[in-house]
Amino acid sequence: MTINVLGYGTHAATETLASYRFERRDLRTNDVEIEILYCGVCHSDLHMARNDWGFSTYPVVPGHEIIGRVSRVGADVKRFKTGDSVGVGCLVDSCQHCEACHHDLEQYCAGQVQTYNGIDSHDQMPTYGGYSERIIVTEKFVLKVPDGMDLAGAAPLLCAGITTWSPLRHWKAGKGSKVAVVGLGGLGHMALKLANALGAEVTLFTRSSGKEADARRLGAHNIVLSSDADQMAAVANQFDLIIDTVPYQHDLKPYLPTLALNGTLVLVGLLGDLEPTVNTIPLIMGRKAIAGSLIGGIAETQEMLNFCGKHGITSDIEMIKMPEINDAYERLLKSDVKYRFVIDMASLKS
Ligand code: NAP
Ligand code: ZN
Repeated sequence: MTINVLGYGTHAATETLASYRFERRDLRTNDVEIEILYCGVCHSDLHMARNDWGFSTYPVVPGHEIIGRVSRVGADVKRFKTGDSVGVGCLVDSCQHCEACHHDLEQYCAGQVQTYNGIDSHDQMPTYGGYSERIIVTEKFVLKVPDGMDLAGAAPLLCAGITTWSPLRHWKAGKGSKVAVVGLGGLGHMALKLANALGAEVTLFTRSSGKEADARRLGAHNIVLSSDADQMAAVANQFDLIIDTVPYQHDLKPYLPTLALNGTLVLVGLLGDLEPTVNTIPLIMGRKAIAGSLIGGIAETQEMLNFCGKHGITSDIEMIKMPEINDAYERLLKSDVKYRFVIDMASLKS
């Protein structure tokens, strides 16, 4: 059984997004149906719509920062009821049996099912994301939105929030640690807010002059223009953790000397070959590491949402209507967003 759903998607890398009807599975007994209210616009949506990574399967209906209200639940669903405010991030299922799943690291499960551009492991249907009127998700992958949280501002927490929270927690950022963030976009602005709320001393590396006041308001204590060699030299050997959110090729060489002894630069943006070549001397001489990190597990996502609820943290958003998505993608490429586009899904039908 399937249900027919209205969404917004693309049929090819070179096409713009447009209105598109498709089929989703109907409720299984452990499924939750969500009427989508808001969906954040992640740079990954753009990468996937345009096949930047080379593994897009069309049609693509992007969107993995989903906030909505439960509209139906399957017979075995225990934690949710009709009317609940809920979220869905980048994952809608995983194998539940492997080492990663046993450690609440579903994002590293080889059988993970992504919210879009994935294949459901039970019925082999393609998954389509949150640029749509409703979605059906296994209960285990549905998140509770803390009471009172602004729902539109909560949407970006489901990807930008958890993707920066997970490395902050894994590398134990907090009071007494120094954290730097490279790039002030969707992920970057959440990283500033979260690192600050965890008690770390926070620095922003940006290639854009003019973001200083915003960066300070968002939680940065220091701002460093990455193109300014003097400013870069002034922060040598400082950072315990650098979270690098830059989506495209960029030289890591200037950042490695700013790591402290035992420091780690964790890449969350760039997917693919790292160029130019990285010299290992600064790594070996200071037991420094370059690492990667992918979103976060479901339990960790709930932990982040609860932390944000407690600390009054949501994303700074620019609300857009669904037909404005193609312009929004162009603006994203120019880093012209403060600091996350969120689609008002009521505009899908207008
Ligand atoms: P975004 O909002 O577009 O922000 C990216 C920021 O990177 C820009 O604001 C800009 O900040 C900086 N930048 C430096 N060089 C750039 C360039 N050549 N083009 C564009 N921006 C450049 O993107 P986002 O949504 O935060 O996503 C960032 C990356 O993370 C994307 O590649 C996305 O696919 C990836 N991602 C990864 C995960 C994961 O699990 N690892 C999850 C979500 C997203 P300044 O102007 O301050 O320099
Ligand atoms: Zn994302």
